[in-house]
Amino acid sequence: MARVALVTGGTRGIGAGISIALKNAGFKVAANYGGNEETAHAFREATGIPVYKWDVCNFESCAAGIAKVESDLGPIDVLVNNAGITRDATLHRMSKDQWREVISTDLDSIFNMCRHVIEGMRARNYGRIISIASINGQKGQVGQTNYSAAKAGVIGFTKALAQENAAKGITVNVVCPGYINTDMMKDLRPEVLKGIIDTIPAGRLGSTDDIAGGVLYLAAEQAGFTTGATLTINGAQYIAG
Ligand code: NDP
Repeated sequence: MARVALVTGGTRGIGAGISIALKNAGFKVAANYGGNEETAHAFREATGIPVYKWDVCNFESCAAGIAKVESDLGPIDVLVNNAGITRDATLHRMSKDQWREVISTDLDSIFNMCRHVIEGMRARNYGRIISIASINGQKGQVGQTNYSAAKAGVIGFTKALAQENAAKGITVNVVCPGYINTDMMKDLRPEVLKGIIDTIPAGRLGSTDDIAGGVLYLAAEQAGFTTGATLTINGAQYIAG
């Protein structure tokens, strides 16, 4: 039986790359999105992957969305927490809304999603939870106290949840991408983008396939002893100890 995988923010960018890679590897995939209907429907038409709209910041919406996916496809075996946003500003200029939106979307969402799948995974003695954090949660970044805090929080959350569920056949891991060529990068000024690429020893931005490859490994049954791990995929831009 094909295993069921749910990818949040799975209709564009890194999430779309992950959804497609999981489908190609034989998973039954559901892709969540937040509000960009046009992109989500085009993604569904192009890939045949069903799409589900809900806000990962909302605990009750996550419960309802997960229940719908499970009634359509079956119990969720693989959860990929990918949805995320940035609202950059140095702290002395950051508004409370910029702080809250990022903490809510990038960190609260991990609780909101995991809380609703973990009991089923424990009952079935199987699960793969993979969250997408960031290089900037590992090393910090000017203009991103909100984002760096949220992503560092995801790493800590992952380590704790991995320990709680290691004896239950459930692995919990985090992927830390470096700079990846998606919509999230499109607002950067060309000189800022060049400055970033100059700091990447690989000499290029990462691709969505670079990240999907790491997620595929962590989603596999064969990765059952890999848990609590932080997988860094960044072209050697930052090598965490
Ligand atoms: P994109 O901006 O390209 O896509 C973000 C996705 O998240 C979209 O599908 C969006 O849905 C969804 N989303 C955003 N907010 C919500 C919400 N409240 N509820 C449900 N879905 C939501 O992002 P990327 O592909 O660039 O990034 C994906 C992940 O990777 C993020 O967690 C990001 O922090 C992380 N990352 C990205 C890096 C990069 O360089 N791009 C580097 C390091 C980490 P919709 O289409 O409906 O708006």
